[in-house]
Amino acid sequence: MPEITAAVVAEPNAPFELKTVTLDDPRADEILVRIKGVGICHTDLVAQAGYFTAELPAVFGHEGAGVVQAVGPEVTKVSVGDRVALSFTYCGKCACCSRGELAYCKDMTPLNSSGKRADGSKTMGDVSGSFFGQSSFASHALTSEKNVVKVPDGVPLEVAGILGCGVQTGAGAVLRSLDLRPESSLVVFGVGAVGLAAVMAAKLRGLATVIAVEVHESRRALALELGASHAIDPTAEDSTRKIREICPDGVDAILDTTGLPIVVNTVPDILAKRGQFGFVGIPPVSDIDLKLPGPLMAAMRNGWTFRGIIEGDSDVDGFLAELMDEYLKGNFPFDRMVTRYPFDKINEAIADQHDGRCLKPVLIP
Ligand SMILES: [Zn+2]
Ligand SMILES: [Zn+2]
Repeated sequence: MPEITAAVVAEPNAPFELKTVTLDDPRADEILVRIKGVGICHTDLVAQAGYFTAELPAVFGHEGAGVVQAVGPEVTKVSVGDRVALSFTYCGKCACCSRGELAYCKDMTPLNSSGKRADGSKTMGDVSGSFFGQSSFASHALTSEKNVVKVPDGVPLEVAGILGCGVQTGAGAVLRSLDLRPESSLVVFGVGAVGLAAVMAAKLRGLATVIAVEVHESRRALALELGASHAIDPTAEDSTRKIREICPDGVDAILDTTGLPIVVNTVPDILAKRGQFGFVGIPPVSDIDLKLPGPLMAAMRNGWTFRGIIEGDSDVDGFLAELMDEYLKGNFPFDRMVTRYPFDKINEAIADQHDGRCLKPVLIP
């Protein structure tokens, strides 16, 4: 059984601490991956705060990528030495899974955040693992065929893991969940990794009007460079009025990545007839009860759609391959959002992301 280095959270809100833990050898259907890079996503911090069912101590991390180091005898999808990006896992059998709607798997929560395998066993002794089928804040992760995707030459391996959560969530929101047309207008609230991926996907789809609303200047600048037609600083101007100036009849689509009631409450004031409101934001404080904006009658009269979005409706294999293909063609430069950090700087990287000094930190274990 390999001794690995992992970032362990001992109790709710405790910092990540690098420790040596023992990882199981791969079972017949499991894959051992030497992690070469892992992104930090907001969900990891929600988990660090203790809001998931996984018992602490636990190892989180769910945007890993690396090289296959060992495979169980039943594994046929990848072999030792393959470069892979990891994503979430799913049962593969329920109604949503059989329609390819994997992110809405009926067992999404237990399979990705209970800290255990599907059969209830743990992969690292008493330490909870299997986070999003990987727990990749570590030198090595145990995963399965469901959530590994081969990374072609030309795509930088150490950053490919961010495709598996944050990037596919934002890009998929535009390309899949909301399925926007080139003539649609779009407002994205918050251009962190998810929002920026949405902006890049909007450019890929050919949208002309893409408005980024974001408090950090550097993120607004990057959004403008990567596909936004307008950027609004909500601390300096009235974003509702400004959006109405740009789109007098309202916007066709809104993507909220913030989970802030002050943002969500503006939706009825800016959404056009037949508009879609997509939301992926988790409220920053767990006791906020995020409510859908406005009375149902207004939604009915205007023909609005309110769409909760998980993982951008990604089918993992197909969508990650599509995004990597667009990267290779120069149409989807998702690596532009990344700042690399040594693995032992994990807590500093989180602080930098929080303060807007970096957008998407990727740890190099
Ligand atoms: Zn399922
Ligand atoms: Zn995530």
